[in-house]
Amino acid sequence: MRDLIFWLSAKKAFTQPIARTGMRLGFARRFIAGETLEDGLRVAQELNAKGLRIMLNRLGEYVTDRREAEAAYEGYREMLEELTRRKIDGSISIKPTQLGLSFAPDLCCDLALRLAREAARLNNFVEMDMEASDSTQATVELFEAVRRQQENVGLAIQSYLYRSAKDLERLKPLRPKIRLVKGAYREPPALAFPSKRQVDENYRRLMRVLFSDGFWPAVATHDEKMIDLAKQMARQQGGGGDRWEFQMILGVRRDLQEQLVREGYRMRVYIPFGTEWLPYFMRRLGERPANLWFVAKSLLKGG
Ligand SMILES: Cc1cc2nc3c(=O)[nH]c(=O)nc-3n(C[C@H](O)[C@H](O)[C@H](O)COP(=O)(O)OP(=O)(O)OC[C@H]3O[C@@H](n4cnc5c(N)ncnc54)[C@H](O)[C@@H]3O)c2cc1C
Repeated sequence: MRDLIFWLSAKKAFTQPIARTGMRLGFARRFIAGETLEDGLRVAQELNAKGLRIMLNRLGEYVTDRREAEAAYEGYREMLEELTRRKIDGSISIKPTQLGLSFAPDLCCDLALRLAREAARLNNFVEMDMEASDSTQATVELFEAVRRQQENVGLAIQSYLYRSAKDLERLKPLRPKIRLVKGAYREPPALAFPSKRQVDENYRRLMRVLFSDGFWPAVATHDEKMIDLAKQMARQQGGGGDRWEFQMILGVRRDLQEQLVREGYRMRVYIPFGTEWLPYFMRRLGERPANLWFVAKSLLKGG
């Protein structure tokens, strides 16, 4: 089913009706705050009021033009300013290919560094998403280059990739904040564990490394087994210091997000917004094919 969704996501006849009607009918708003920064900030304030921290992401990826990369930088800079101005407890998360990683790595590095400096001036933080495997190596190198100069940056690492244990080993001397995710892209068995059992097993293994080797762990999952394990590791190993946190995505397991806050844990919600929401939305459908039904129902009712 997951493969079918990825296949469908490349078919315009399927994606265009979704893109046209998604925001109008509201089903896209379960996972996406809206199309404007104002939408993202409004949802951020609502979540802050419930005790949840946030990180904002302006949707968009794989830009191919200098001006687009610079516009993305400008968008994030404005976001950092607005978070401060409105006293929102939240940071930002960027996609490296949105800042030009795939066609101009030097430009991307310059823009990411400038964002990290701007965030530091505002006492804020920049996380980097990890995208598909064609940009993993370049992203790790980008992260290292920026992290050597700025402490206020973190990186996502995917447990489905075989290479991730080595990447953590490489990044260990920097003691960075690492957001541990399972991985959301379709990757070949030559690069990624093919079964969920193996991905989960590697998630446990990498989580152990984060808690015991001086990283700043961000446990980004909705999987209750992993959440229980993180609580246990934080208790037993005393690892992660008092800075470790859980992270979840907007619209997924809202009950659990609020429950963890009530239990006294730090919980950060990833809030995406923007007009280019379809690829992100399709990845969320792919993670849980049952989500397809609520889209289909909305299309039948309102489309
Ligand atoms: C804060 C955050 C940031 C992320 N950043 C990245 C990144 O930079 N790069 C990357 O590749 N991936 C990223 N991801 C996505 C991640 O890789 C997984 O695809 C996603 O989180 C689903 O995996 P899971 O850990 O929740 O576990 P799963 O085993 O997939 O799911 C566990 C349970 O969570 C619920 N659930 C999970 N996904 C959904 C959904 N879409 N809709 C409804 N219920 C769902 C279901 O109840 C499911 O049974 C991020 C995830 C989070 C939470």
